[in-house]
Amino acid sequence: MSEWVDSFMEGLITKNPGEKEFHQAVHEVVESLAIAIERHPEYRDAKILERICEPERVVMFRVPWLDDEGNVQINRGFRIEFCSAIGPYKGGLRFHPTVNLGILKFLAFEQIFKNALTTIPIGAGKGGSDFDPKGKSDNEVMRFCQSFMTELYRHLGERTDIPAGDIGVGAREIGFLFGQYKRIVNRFEGVLTGKGLNWGGSLIRTEATGYGAVYFAEEMLRTRDESIKDKTCLVSGSGNVAQYTVEKINDLGGKAVTLSDSSGFIVDHDGIDAEKLAYVMDLKNVRRGRIREYAEKYKCEYHEGRGVWNVEGAECSFPSATQNEISFEDAKALTKGGVYVVSEGANMPTVPDGVEHFIKEGILYGPGKAANAGGVATSGLEMAQNAGHTSWTREQVDERLHSIMIAIHKACHETAEEYGTPGNYVNGANIAGFLKIADAMMAQGVV
Ligand code: NDP
Repeated sequence: MSEWVDSFMEGLITKNPGEKEFHQAVHEVVESLAIAIERHPEYRDAKILERICEPERVVMFRVPWLDDEGNVQINRGFRIEFCSAIGPYKGGLRFHPTVNLGILKFLAFEQIFKNALTTIPIGAGKGGSDFDPKGKSDNEVMRFCQSFMTELYRHLGERTDIPAGDIGVGAREIGFLFGQYKRIVNRFEGVLTGKGLNWGGSLIRTEATGYGAVYFAEEMLRTRDESIKDKTCLVSGSGNVAQYTVEKINDLGGKAVTLSDSSGFIVDHDGIDAEKLAYVMDLKNVRRGRIREYAEKYKCEYHEGRGVWNVEGAECSFPSATQNEISFEDAKALTKGGVYVVSEGANMPTVPDGVEHFIKEGILYGPGKAANAGGVATSGLEMAQNAGHTSWTREQVDERLHSIMIAIHKACHETAEEYGTPGNYVNGANIAGFLKIADAMMAQGVV
């Protein structure tokens, strides 16, 4: 079987040179699927896996805009419409200088399996730009978003492709993007999720990814008759996912002691309580400052650079920043320091050797495509509310989110067991997601 995986990967790498994150994401999935394909030779004959790895459509475009000094700036825009087997393309937009085709293809590919796990009929996409919103004025961000949407709009539609936010795309950017879309098409429709509450957004969407990652950790712990209560937690990042991860950890009686950004990390052994979290939200979402300022305000430790995973004395960790933020060394440091729960809010935050280490150690390891699926699931709930011209209460949405996370956990847990690798949530998530997509593709013929 490993020969089959190697030859599959060789073909994929030749066809998609230089896209290392995409290769990494596909390799993990293909390795998990070897057992499933063996049991379902019909999928091999229909070349389901080969088809899944080829995006249905990739759009790349120029995004010219004027900065505050009147200079012309040019960025590159992308939308990867990867798979519509079970619903319209759905997945976020990322604005970050590191964005390139390979990164967006990895994210869109992960989204296929994640979205299939949500129990909601949504396909998979991802997009974004190498534009960096950091250090830009609100007007510059608006002009960029308007230019970006002036091309992207023609590929979107509430039954075609519905983007959301991701790194660098929060409430402000979604607002500007939506305004320009509406202006061009002259229709008010739910073509983006993560919208403001007064104009078609859903309660709990902002909170959903972080809350969901903690619900997923709680479910993993439940398999050992434990809970988050009284557990110390390491959280990385300090953006949307990290903030609401901390909020839910606090709700459930745990204690979050770290946060980070691309400059460094803070360690607050007293815990990041509700008041301190409100400060972080203002710092990051309004003042757009650095996490270092938290340490100055609350007189706690601040360290420049990486190292958040070396903090000792925690049981749980919630990587919530970016891909490959947990190296092999970090993974070893985490388990050595006492961590036995890793619930990934970020997408693919652990390098392959690190994942292998977690699985070998038998810890509760929830991969991003399962643990962070609450965000896109709640986007699906936002779409349902838009389609019904209605809005649900906070409690209704949170209850749906919670039950979706329980269902995702159950699907991963049971599938891992059924395919002979109990406790391996990586295999569980990949196989359960794949089977759903593969069945739909078989039914729809060679398209
Ligand atoms: P935000 O932009 O709100 O926050 C990102 C955080 O991660 C910031 O603190 C940022 O620090 C840090 N970060 C980003 N890139 C790097 C880097 N290269 N090195 C170190 N730190 C970095 O994004 P989100 O919270 O929305 O997203 C975080 C992760 O969660 C991503 O992997 C995203 O794909 C994933 N995700 C998000 C979902 C959502 O609903 N938003 C849904 C599912 C997954 P700095 O400000 O210094 O750059």
